[in-house]
Amino acid sequence: MFNKILIANRGEIACRVIKTARRLGVCSVAVYSAADAGARHVRLADEAVLIGPAAAAESYLVGSRIIAAAIQTGAQAIHPGYGFLSENADFAEECARAGLVFIGPPVSAIRAMGSKSAAKTLMENAGVPLVPGYHGENQDPEFLKSQAKKIGYPLLIKASAGGGGRGMRIVNKTEEFLDALASCQREAKAGFGSDQVLLERYLDRPRHIEFQVFGDSQGKVVHLFERDCSVQRRHQKVLEEAPAPGMSAQRRAAMGRAAVEAAKAVGYVGAGTVEFIVNQDGSFYFMEMNTRLQVEHPVSEMITGLDLVEWQLRVAAGEPLPLAQEQLAIRGHALEARIYAEDADKGFLPSTGRLSHLAQPEESLHVRVDSGVEQNDEISPHYDAMIAKLIVWDETRERALARMLQALAQYRIVGVANNVAFLTRLVACPAFASADLDTGLIERERDLLFPATAATPPQAWLVAALAELLREARAAHRAAAREQDPHSPWHLSDGWRVNSAARRTLRFRHGEEEQSIAVAYLGKGYSLTLGGSTQATHAVGELGENGQLRADLDGMHLTATVVTAGERRHVFLHGSSHLLANVDPLYHAGEGGGPDGGLTAPMPGKVIALIAAVGVHLAKGAPLLILEAMKMEHTLTAPAAGKVIRFRYAVGDQVTDGAELVEFEIDK
Ligand code: ADP
Ligand code: ADP
Ligand code: MG
Repeated sequence: MFNKILIANRGEIACRVIKTARRLGVCSVAVYSAADAGARHVRLADEAVLIGPAAAAESYLVGSRIIAAAIQTGAQAIHPGYGFLSENADFAEECARAGLVFIGPPVSAIRAMGSKSAAKTLMENAGVPLVPGYHGENQDPEFLKSQAKKIGYPLLIKASAGGGGRGMRIVNKTEEFLDALASCQREAKAGFGSDQVLLERYLDRPRHIEFQVFGDSQGKVVHLFERDCSVQRRHQKVLEEAPAPGMSAQRRAAMGRAAVEAAKAVGYVGAGTVEFIVNQDGSFYFMEMNTRLQVEHPVSEMITGLDLVEWQLRVAAGEPLPLAQEQLAIRGHALEARIYAEDADKGFLPSTGRLSHLAQPEESLHVRVDSGVEQNDEISPHYDAMIAKLIVWDETRERALARMLQALAQYRIVGVANNVAFLTRLVACPAFASADLDTGLIERERDLLFPATAATPPQAWLVAALAELLREARAAHRAAAREQDPHSPWHLSDGWRVNSAARRTLRFRHGEEEQSIAVAYLGKGYSLTLGGSTQATHAVGELGENGQLRADLDGMHLTATVVTAGERRHVFLHGSSHLLANVDPLYHAGEGGGPDGGLTAPMPGKVIALIAAVGVHLAKGAPLLILEAMKMEHTLTAPAAGKVIRFRYAVGDQVTDGAELVEFEIDK
């Protein structure tokens, strides 16, 4: 086994590899770009080397810098993770030349599978079934068009070098063929450096089922069963599970055999995945082989009880496979959901910014969270917007589904748009729950998955109001404690409140919906009455430091989280999140001035006016600029007497949550 390895990647996969290395007593070296100096993978590793600026093309994709870092730190091997250089044969070759072990398959296997066209020719010769199509060398448009006619429409044009769901075009009729071909070739050339394409019949309602394979340098190859990755959006995986629902032992054996044959045909060593496209009748065809560890490998780990990264390290160190095929078995069912910083309701638009609040589900025997970030980390525009992978396991698919819904309900993410609510709807939708799977599921279930925004439930308003009152009480308590005034009424506990009338009204808004809540202070807790209701609710609660709320509403106990950011109140309740705005006229910024009371944008928005003059002396509280967010204006004020050195944004600029807006010099 190695003493020290370098991980040529970032994010969750770098963290995940470091974890196994540590368990095996192997030291880990991280590499990082300037944008990742404080990233979790850097904090976790034993050593870390800066390899360049933020852009991946100048850091994580520069093989020579990574190899230099390995040599400099005395690492013996390089784990490439997935993406980046993981399927780059030239990089694997450079590693060998530098005397380093590339933790992956032989260069020849990466090359053989690197082109989807060449791989299909190889598989054809190995007797592995292929989707009817054309994958030859002749790329003449008219020739391809004639091949298309033979295959029949609809068909798929695929970039031979493509990946990540890009470089594909569906063509429905012959008149569209030449335009689609040209556009596919342009994208392929720009994205993958080669404009070679292949043609495939476009299957109707297919499933994506892939096999995890493993080979060792003694020539043994096994498979670790299958994963079903049919739930996709734009040909990218969203949910993955193992085993595949409805898979018979016979079909598994046949597909497993084909996957092992595919690996053997290219002398495969290490972890790889053979992807098949499967008809509803169960007939299957080879699609491609990914010569690396796959994003969704944890579901295979959960059902086999194995650590695939450990296997990778052992095999790369020359050891034989730890287990033979007949020693491998499936236990239970596992599901994975990719938690992304993206806005599912806006066409899955990626979102960037600081994770001002991040609470993830608690890990257990049933729940695993592979994450590359922690609270306050940044989702940067430079890299993939994945926040974490959530993996659950249980004895049956039904139980695993329930676990997934419970775990998703524990997510609290503030600062970036995210797909947790979408995933929740997806996992709960009848088609997925009943395993009626195919790659068109998300499209087919649009109406269920993208519902019109529902009205805010009454409990959410009550919870927001209660949290507000508890927060105020705590802030006042602290202020009194700071002043150490022995006569402060806060040392009394009779429910008497400073600065608070016996009755008042709180106001919150959600989009166009506004709600008032009449508050009466009681000896213990509060009486809350929603506007338009005659029924008062007796509310008592405890508020934790991170916004966790234990509430008692008329004797009903519930837990929620209310995260405060400027005027925004993110209410997480019963597995849903509600974004409310506090429009209380008496509202004053964050607790004790708080981190939100500063010169940073309290929410994403647009600068609509710069008020203060630069360089002019200002009193504390003087208005500096106005930001428009959530259809509301928000004025940033001077935190103390001083002057504005510079505005960092101009009128009309969009700013992200937490962006520093003003350079301000406080008087000494
Ligand atoms: P998997 O097949 O392991 O489920 P994906 O196909 O989603 O994973 O891709 C894995 C990762 O590699 C993703 O982060 C994706 O952005 C990246 N990726 C996939 N193909 C390429 C490629 N050809 N070039 C660069 N990155 C890629
Ligand atoms: P990538 O390298 O981007 O992962 P793949 O060839 O693995 O490309 O295909 C990605 C996805 O596209 C598949 O998971 C499947 O949903 C869809 N797809 C690929 N080939 C076909 C086909 N012949 N018919 C229907 N859908 C297909
Ligand atoms: Mg694929």
